[in-house]
Amino acid sequence: MLTANACLGNGGRVAIEWPRSCLYWRDRKAKADLCRWGCEQNKFDGCMYGLVSQAAATSGKLLRKPWTIASNADGFRHLQRPCDHTHEHVKTQGSDTKLTEGYTEALADEIHHCWALSVDGSGVRSTLATLAVAGERRHLERGVRGTLSTLAVPSE
Ligand SMILES: [Zn+2]
Repeated sequence: MLTANACLGNGGRVAIEWPRSCLYWRDRKAKADLCRWGCEQNKFDGCMYGLVSQAAATSGKLLRKPWTIASNADGFRHLQRPCDHTHEHVKTQGSDTKLTEGYTEALADEIHHCWALSVDGSGVRSTLATLAVAGERRHLERGVRGTLSTLAVPSE
């Protein structure tokens, strides 16, 4: 959160992604920070961005993987694509669990698009950085991933 505060202090915007079930979303301090920063939650599911199993028994079948990104960058509203229930999912397990820590190419492209929408004409120029905030990792319970923040910062 220190990095996000520094970014915001310099006129930047923040986007913070955690799995939808992550306890951070209910953490009092995290909620207060997100509210103070004017962040809105944008919910989407991995299946809508082509997230598929690579495990031998279920290869190619869609994985749901619910994510949420909170951001004060308006462009992230375009990311909201919850599952449309027109397909089946397989359970995320085994080797697929690690796989779902990453983004599909379609999701990465959409996140870049969201940043571009947020910085064009806004006075925040398009110097973008993606930072793993290792120093801010907290583990509220076993299995909760650390914080990964994406930040847009004004260029000099
Ligand atoms: Zn789905």
